[in-house]
Amino acid sequence: MTRTGGCLCQAIRYRVSYEAIDAGYCHCRLCQRSAGAPVVAWATFPRVTFEYTRGAPGVYASSEQGQREHCTECGTQLVFRHAFEPETLDVTLASLDDRTTIQPQYHIWVASKVDWLQINDTLPQYPDAGPDHPDAG
Ligand SMILES: [Zn+2]
Ligand SMILES: [Zn+2]
Repeated sequence: MTRTGGCLCQAIRYRVSYEAIDAGYCHCRLCQRSAGAPVVAWATFPRVTFEYTRGAPGVYASSEQGQREHCTECGTQLVFRHAFEPETLDVTLASLDDRTTIQPQYHIWVASKVDWLQINDTLPQYPDAGPDHPDAG
């Protein structure tokens, strides 16, 4: 079984494994700026299971280690790849067609959370990248 997803205008479509490794909310400044949003929910998958099935993304190096992929037509951010995590990639959770069956399990980079955003869940919060991830990018 696989999952599918894509951008707002549907110029880009992708396929990825059904099972995610994990998922979480990222409050880092790079995610905030790249999405124009206070927080971005990401799901992590084995990189080999991901493929674009329609279109080709624009690629932006948001840091020395980080690469973000987006639709050049509508701007939707779809994928994050980290040089220090060659086995995995992150997909914007809400770009999945089924955006409900994978649920975030933690908050990272809470040190840069916007003050007016209230976290009302009981998920673990980490000021930085947390125990399972390298630095942001
Ligand atoms: Zn698009
Ligand atoms: Zn981030």
